[in-house]
Amino acid sequence: MALEFTDRENELRKHSLQRADELKKHIEPYLEKSKNIKTGFNQADFYETQKQQILRYFNATQENWEDWHWQIKHRISDVDTLSSIFALTEEQKQEILKVGETYRWAVSPYYLSLMDFSDSNDPIILQGLPNIAELQDEEGEEDPMGEAYTSPAPCITRRYPDRLIINVTNICGMYCRHCQRRRNIGETDVHRKKEDLQAALDYIRANPEIRDVLVTGGDALFLSDNTLDWLLGEIHNIPHVEIKRIGTRAPVTLPMRVTDNLIKILAKYPPIYLNTQFNHPKEVTPEAKKAADRLVSAGVILGNQAVLLKGVNNDPDVMKKLNHELLKIRVRPYYIFHAKNVKGTRHFIPSIQEGLAIMEQLRGYTSGLAIPSYIINAPKGGGKTPILPQYLVSLDNEKAVLRTWEGKVVHYDNHTESE
Ligand SMILES: *Cc1c(COP(=O)(O)O)cnc(C)c1O
Repeated sequence: MALEFTDRENELRKHSLQRADELKKHIEPYLEKSKNIKTGFNQADFYETQKQQILRYFNATQENWEDWHWQIKHRISDVDTLSSIFALTEEQKQEILKVGETYRWAVSPYYLSLMDFSDSNDPIILQGLPNIAELQDEEGEEDPMGEAYTSPAPCITRRYPDRLIINVTNICGMYCRHCQRRRNIGETDVHRKKEDLQAALDYIRANPEIRDVLVTGGDALFLSDNTLDWLLGEIHNIPHVEIKRIGTRAPVTLPMRVTDNLIKILAKYPPIYLNTQFNHPKEVTPEAKKAADRLVSAGVILGNQAVLLKGVNNDPDVMKKLNHELLKIRVRPYYIFHAKNVKGTRHFIPSIQEGLAIMEQLRGYTSGLAIPSYIINAPKGGGKTPILPQYLVSLDNEKAVLRTWEGKVVHYDNHTESE
């Protein structure tokens, strides 16, 4: 039997189809551009070739590759090794050598395998290898967040009423060129002393309003399994601490750190929220997905804190693609940070207008789940401050004037008590 529609129904359907066509047009420009955006999944064959090249150089095996201790031990941190694996120009070598005298660098073999030396704007190289611009920065500050002034106990940064950070190590799988704690990276790897960690725990125990403890670094997951097990256990046993959080770039720079043993440890201390830092869709690789899958299987809730970096991701389409790739591996975009005024990293700072343009191209155009908050850290530890495109045009006791994601201006009744 053929379906019968009333005239009214037919009219509504026609209207809806027109609207659907309009919506389709909104997404077409992105779909066209998105085809050319590189991702960790569409680059997987290339990464594999590079990995084989690195393994040959170290005379190592797949088993070595998957061993995070091997990865840490074989971090590449000198030009000779780097240029023996991948051909560098003389200019590139001199640049890395010169900057390396002032700022330490090291990349895991894994992160190196993502670098494309045929692309002079490769977002992975920009984040991982020294750039001469680092030395041409006279104005940046060592500690723009004033962390040195907000440390009531060893290892602790406290800037908010109910939560704080414990800084447990300066070790990382890779020393990001845009690092905001560059001053702590120094020249050698140091975990914080156990007495310092004890003192930090004592501070938390003595302050019952602290309900949220964020373990970070450096990279919190570069503590040994034993130390992490002990530290998370101690925090877990403080009755007023409701949630634990971990700050780590391991899923991005060294995903093999997420071992079965680590998962067993994390699963013991729920709830754990882990925020990582993917900055470009090229970083969302099959290995990163494997790490995310394991963390999720341990009940860990995953989030992403991207940093908005000039040349890496200051492009609405790249940022949208990044957030889509992240949701596919169950990592929820949480923040986009405006890059800070840190000495030696200021060549990465985009304009605030660029950040706003990105936010504008997310709301409405994609899932709310793919929309992080855009944050500027107020100077001197003033705190995270959200920045949004203006959707509230005006507001008084009778009405609000709103601008929708498509730019339509609409009036909306406001129900305040009338005088
Ligand atoms: C970023 C940060 C936190 C966590 O902030 P949320 O907005 O809750 O994610 C806590 N303490 C310090 C010192 C921080 O810098």
